[in-house]
Amino acid sequence: MAVPRLKTSKMKKRQRRSHHALVAPNFGECPRCNAQKLPHCVCMTCGYYGGEKRVEVEAH
Ligand SMILES: [Zn+2]
Repeated sequence: MAVPRLKTSKMKKRQRRSHHALVAPNFGECPRCNAQKLPHCVCMTCGYYGGEKRVEVEAH
């Protein structure tokens, strides 16, 4: 196994981890039923996307 020649400095470690933060998903609104849904995804409430029914939604 390869072994690092030098210890990673605190600054280098922190600079690398500065991009690791999680971001909340960007929700949009379904134009048909106005439920929250992810953009570019089929609505999980009514099963519509792009004005057409794409998937059957099971009632819970
Ligand atoms: Zn919908």
